Amino acid sequence: MPNAYAAVPSFLQWSHLVFSRLNARLEQESAEDIIAWAVETFGPGLAVGTSFGASGLVLVDLVLRVQPDADIFYIDTGFFFPETETLIAQVQDHYQRSLRRVTPALSVEAQGAQHGPALYQRDPDMCCYLRKVEPLQTALDGSTAWVTAIRRDQASTRRRTPAVVWNERYAVVKVAPLIHWQEAEIWQYIHSHKLPYNELHDRNYPSIGCWPCTRPVQSGEDLRAGRWQGQDKVECGLHLVR
Ligand code: SF4
Repeated sequence: MPNAYAAVPSFLQWSHLVFSRLNARLEQESAEDIIAWAVETFGPGLAVGTSFGASGLVLVDLVLRVQPDADIFYIDTGFFFPETETLIAQVQDHYQRSLRRVTPALSVEAQGAQHGPALYQRDPDMCCYLRKVEPLQTALDGSTAWVTAIRRDQASTRRRTPAVVWNERYAVVKVAPLIHWQEAEIWQYIHSHKLPYNELHDRNYPSIGCWPCTRPVQSGEDLRAGRWQGQDKVECGLHLVR
């Protein structure tokens, strides 16, 4: 019988001091170097999440240059725009490989039957919990590190994102290689590497999530101003809890 404790990785015991030393070092390094460090440190325990936004596409490309068979997953909330569905097919075609699709426990229809219709209007926090926060636990089951594409310039809630941090909720090390990137650099990378991207970006949707909660933005607005418009909500919850 395998010894369950033998599989417990040492980074579960990393102290605050370890994280602070790591951040002092990784803070100075490029996204490519942070990714190389993460691949070497976590090996097959590394899981890379993308929602196919512009940053998520850059992250996938950078990771696959280092680790072509990396575990890349996305959460299909059931509320993707048709343009996002098209992009997912394009990305898989571009890299000639499939990405791991994770779905919520309840289908959109089952959620409607259980919680009533349009939960995203009445209780978007609950809707995000059921369709994003819970499925992320499934996505990260068996993983020791979660690599994410969040950047400090995206929103005030993300300004202090560290390169690496222990994530209590999912019991993984969360790695954010793109913290220093700016929107313009992301787009320069996408265009220079000819990456596919969501055509909604060309129609004033800088940040794209589920269709019921995403609107185009006006000139000068925050990048995420089109998310949950009219609601007192700026994050889906995935990145609020460390
Ligand atoms: S973004 Fe909107 S539709 Fe998507 S899970 Fe959250 S509340 Fe539901």
